[in-house]
Amino acid sequence: MKRIVLLGSTGSIGQSTLKVARDLPGKIQIVALAAGSNVDELVNQSNEFKPIAVSIASPEAASNLQSRLPDTTRVHCGAEGLITLATLPEADIVLIAIVGTAGLQPALAAIRAGKDIAVASKEILVMAGETVMAEARKHGVNVLAVDSEHSAIFQCLDGKSPNSVRNLWLTASGGPFRDKSQWPIEKFEAITLENALKHPSWVMGRKITIDSATLFNKGLEMIEARWLFDIGMDRVQVVVHPQSVIHSMVEFVDGSIIAQLSTPDMCLPIQYALTYPERVGSDRVQTSLSKYGNLTFEEPDTERFPALNLARRAGEVGGTLPAVFNAANEVAVEAFCNHRITFPQITKTVTRVMDCHQTVNQPSLEQILVADRWARSTASS
Ligand code: MG
Repeated sequence: MKRIVLLGSTGSIGQSTLKVARDLPGKIQIVALAAGSNVDELVNQSNEFKPIAVSIASPEAASNLQSRLPDTTRVHCGAEGLITLATLPEADIVLIAIVGTAGLQPALAAIRAGKDIAVASKEILVMAGETVMAEARKHGVNVLAVDSEHSAIFQCLDGKSPNSVRNLWLTASGGPFRDKSQWPIEKFEAITLENALKHPSWVMGRKITIDSATLFNKGLEMIEARWLFDIGMDRVQVVVHPQSVIHSMVEFVDGSIIAQLSTPDMCLPIQYALTYPERVGSDRVQTSLSKYGNLTFEEPDTERFPALNLARRAGEVGGTLPAVFNAANEVAVEAFCNHRITFPQITKTVTRVMDCHQTVNQPSLEQILVADRWARSTASS
């Protein structure tokens, strides 16, 4: 039985995680749940999974929550609440699925308390990949990927060392604007929020859906892969694969390429991370390759999607630049969602903020957070 702390239980990944927990009652036990502001949903989840502790962002929401839950459920709040949950003695693994930078401190706290972590929040490895992986090695804990691409690479690598890898191949669906004849660069100015929210193969949260349309999501994943698998940025590649059946691949030094395939369903990588190293039976994901018929591949178009080159630059320079890349994008996506900037201005904003940044090498966590705040205010202005 794996005892799980789930940070970010009411979001898209959180809800998929609870589906997996429902599928595997004898294998997975939810010991704690944290949510941002959705008290009603957290009450429902607590009634079903009976965690020993819950946490929510604001103190007001916490007292509301306390009045609606049995006295045996401990209620916490704020950043401290997340740390309390992440270090619970009753937990084996902490799954972090909080959007934004709020997952960083709990991730490090969990590692230092000797817990394995399952990472769904991209910011953790993008901003502080070097620190997080060094701490994990020091404390002998696993950093498990929940993202479909990184789970695929993890499964394909199967414990092989970085020396045996020629390239990691992250697959990208290409997003809703992949088709160059339908969406030439001249039409990018006119892209609406509604256009950008129509993802062809995955149903996901709003921020990540926009990031899939700009390919920033793939850029963030390149940087994550670099740290997670200890592979230089020059060996992290992207190939567009519109069917999203191959979730990613590893090309080994002998030229052999190993891929992981399935119908797109986040429950699969979540289950693998939570039950690792076991493979546990589940009927949820079924894949009929003959129904797909064709699996196709294209080179990514970095002219229409400059985010990939920006990510490569951020990953190669390292230091505080990946944090800046991430934070500026978050602000720009928010502005696009609020109809304040156009679609191409997302990338333009991030480029300008990166150009202005004085990178700090081998930064402390505090310096990373300072760079994050700097990038947010610079992007806003
Ligand atoms: Mg992904």
